[in-house]
Amino acid sequence: MHIQFIGAARTVTGSMHVLDTGKSRVLIDCGLFQGRRAESNEVNRKLRVDAQSIDVAVLTHAHIDHSGALPVLIRNGFRGRLFATEATCSLLDPMLRDAARIQKADADFINRRNARHGIDDPPVEPLYAEEDVEELLNRLEPLPYHRRVPIADDVTLELLDAGHVLGSAICDFEVKSNGSSKRVVFSGDLGRRNAPILIDPETVERADVLVLESTYGNRVHEPIQEMDEQLAKLIEDTLARRGKVLIPSFALERAQEVLHAITRLQKTGRLPAIPIFLDSPLTVRLTQVFGRHKDCFDEETMGLIQDGRSPFEPRNLRLVESVEDSRAISESANPCVVISASGMLEAGRAVHHLRAIVEDPRSVVAIVGFQAQHTLGRRLLEQRQFLKIFGVEYRREVRVVQLSGFSAHADCNDLSAYANAVRDNKGLGRVALVHGEPEAQQALIERFRHEGYDDVINPVPLQKLEF
Ligand SMILES: [Zn+2]
Repeated sequence: MHIQFIGAARTVTGSMHVLDTGKSRVLIDCGLFQGRRAESNEVNRKLRVDAQSIDVAVLTHAHIDHSGALPVLIRNGFRGRLFATEATCSLLDPMLRDAARIQKADADFINRRNARHGIDDPPVEPLYAEEDVEELLNRLEPLPYHRRVPIADDVTLELLDAGHVLGSAICDFEVKSNGSSKRVVFSGDLGRRNAPILIDPETVERADVLVLESTYGNRVHEPIQEMDEQLAKLIEDTLARRGKVLIPSFALERAQEVLHAITRLQKTGRLPAIPIFLDSPLTVRLTQVFGRHKDCFDEETMGLIQDGRSPFEPRNLRLVESVEDSRAISESANPCVVISASGMLEAGRAVHHLRAIVEDPRSVVAIVGFQAQHTLGRRLLEQRQFLKIFGVEYRREVRVVQLSGFSAHADCNDLSAYANAVRDNKGLGRVALVHGEPEAQQALIERFRHEGYDDVINPVPLQKLEF
């Protein structure tokens, strides 16, 4: 029996692992690899796994780096069953359709540019089309949390709440062979303890092997209360100066966290009913999905609902659909808060809003998410004086503030607490760290050693762990 780590090994992108029992092959996650274009393209088309050899696929959550290559798996001949939680199934519909549309728009853009410049490259093909997404959606089988079900002759699966994003799951596999059984657990991305909106990550009974994420293996997050106060003060000060607050935000989870934070700041009277625009059609659709899965919410959020309010609807919130309305907001000089995508300012309406305020010293860009290298968001974060937006260089006058308390991932204290909780329950065997940069993983390995775990590895891509 072995696990092969295909993606998100010593990196945070392209999550994909195979649990091979000798009888059955189970794929856990099938994420898009995001990096330099040529390399990503090669990895995402071939997937580094034989799609026809997989019997069952299970998805931990809807984020694109965990789910975005599933349509390719089907295109490459995967014929097995496919499981995810009910909320993940609901989120995948808008998420993957959006991914297919972005790929098509990107391919069209490159092909047009090549044609215009007489570049004789072969035409770029999108990874998949919306029809591929539809086939995938038809084949998805929703599984409830907390019910152990057989998924192959020798494997059963129970999903527990990972508290990371809506519908996120910890996969607890039991493999039976020769009268004995092994418990193999994949954490998926793990949420923070005591974070708003979702319930805390649930502890599995035991794990002979725990495949654990390690994104923030070397970091401690700011407390949530401080983050709320920072956000309130930032909005208050900026609006008093008659500036705008632009919050570029990922469509799944982060945008809802920001909306939720403003809603609770209004509820306690810390913020008045300021004008807020949610300018991202995908975010609007995903927020509607949240409303249909209240079973995933924590007590505090349920309390907001019982007051008869949506927990993601601050007073004076306006949802922006049309491009014309979006343009009118960016051209208007009225102070307001704008939440828009994309989260790293690579594309989308957020870039237009940034261009409108980049030379305005009264306004602020609030960075609430991870900013990858070579993105406009990263250059803002680095406080660069000059910024190129749509090919035009601007001298930046807008202020840039990072609110680092917003995170959907466990920090090193949460990760350690999780491992300890499993050990104190019915036992923890070996640990394999995935979904982390080597530096974060090394720090976590050392911490685990201090706490008495010696059998911790951080596998390289394609490495196999036999057990
Ligand atoms: Zn995630």
